[in-house]
Amino acid sequence: EPALTQFGDRMNHLTGVRAIMKDIQETLRAGKGREFINLSAGNPVILPEVEQLWRECTLDLLSGPEYGEVVCRYGSAQGYGPLIEAVVEDFNRRYGLQISDRNVLITGGSQSLYFLAANAFGGYNAQGQLKRIVLPLSPDYTGYGGMCLTPEALYAYKPTLEIDTAAHRFKYRPDFEQLQIDPNTGFVLFSRPCNPTGNVLTDTEVRQLVDIAASHDVPVLIDSAYAPPYPCLNFTDMSLVFGENVLHCTSLSKSGLPGERVGIAIGHERLIQVLESFLTNLCLHSSRYGQAIAARAIRSGQLGQLSLEVIRPYYQNKLAILEATLDRAMPNDVPWFLHRGEGAIFAWLWLNELPMSDWEFYQKLKQVGVILVPGNSFFPGLRDNWQHTQQCFRISLTASDTELETAMQRLAEVVQQVYQAS
Ligand code: PLP
Repeated sequence: EPALTQFGDRMNHLTGVRAIMKDIQETLRAGKGREFINLSAGNPVILPEVEQLWRECTLDLLSGPEYGEVVCRYGSAQGYGPLIEAVVEDFNRRYGLQISDRNVLITGGSQSLYFLAANAFGGYNAQGQLKRIVLPLSPDYTGYGGMCLTPEALYAYKPTLEIDTAAHRFKYRPDFEQLQIDPNTGFVLFSRPCNPTGNVLTDTEVRQLVDIAASHDVPVLIDSAYAPPYPCLNFTDMSLVFGENVLHCTSLSKSGLPGERVGIAIGHERLIQVLESFLTNLCLHSSRYGQAIAARAIRSGQLGQLSLEVIRPYYQNKLAILEATLDRAMPNDVPWFLHRGEGAIFAWLWLNELPMSDWEFYQKLKQVGVILVPGNSFFPGLRDNWQHTQQCFRISLTASDTELETAMQRLAEVVQQVYQAS
């Protein structure tokens, strides 16, 4: 192996769920001939109507004069003009904003946007002071664990739990008593709706976070990969919150375009410009083909419409099947709790007092042909020693109806066994 720098070494490691994915890949490969129900996928389902939209936008691009401009030329660092224009018009119209093209930056997927922000606003400043990246509600997106060149900058906060014992449901809430957002904070980051939990921070909670941050001139990045207006994977009402210090970060990955890597940041010019310079140094600009077809899908209103009419109901229906199956099959006397399913493409199960680690339970499930993701990789930046981090599982809603039902029934049997044996 070549000699690596600290940064090189840091980026040479797979963090969080990517490390587990390796075990899952190996399990699937080794188990040839054995059928696994794999509920680990983060890849969205290819929905025919959505694929068709992208195909039509591509055909339109291919058949017109714009094609050469898009793929045969370099573009501006900020992004492809027609996409930026479409986003500006769409957001102004939908949310009564008055943003201009100076308020938008297109990145190669939103993961790269968080990488830029993590290293522009988090880490050591010129005075040698550590500017923290604050994740106000842990668990959150596992990818936040790998984005920072100075990992010691990442601070996640334990939530409070709102538990409905009789219904076997719970919900995480930010613990404003513990949470520290102060002049040492570089920026605040959370996903809403949340991967892995399906939680949606309430409008009030978001405003409170944004206000505290604003009082210290701290940016807040709201990871809206599952939010309206595309892909609209919220099953509960939520308003988008904008503001001077808010960067609204969206992605086209969950509305059918993950392979094209289109992330969109919307916010104040002074934040956008920092990230734009960083991006120029990194890669000049994001790829333009995906941007050109996205401009069409957004301008025509079809992306917003399909999100509401196709994408959201698809996953909402999966969640309903999962909930009904668990409610029917799970032993009532076991303290199992499903997180309130308020959005995204996952369900999050908490097995309180689980008599083994999440990793061991994951291995047991594999023996009955079911793969879930053990939850402990979804607590990046959390420093507390908290048993709960080893009692949770992420269940992907991307499987077929029957797979979901069968897997939840098998899960319930294994739960019964392990709690009985303890
Ligand atoms: N943020 C969240 C909450 C996600 O779930 C994902 C992908 O699963 C991403 C960001 C990264 O998405 P992309 O880089 O494809 O925009």
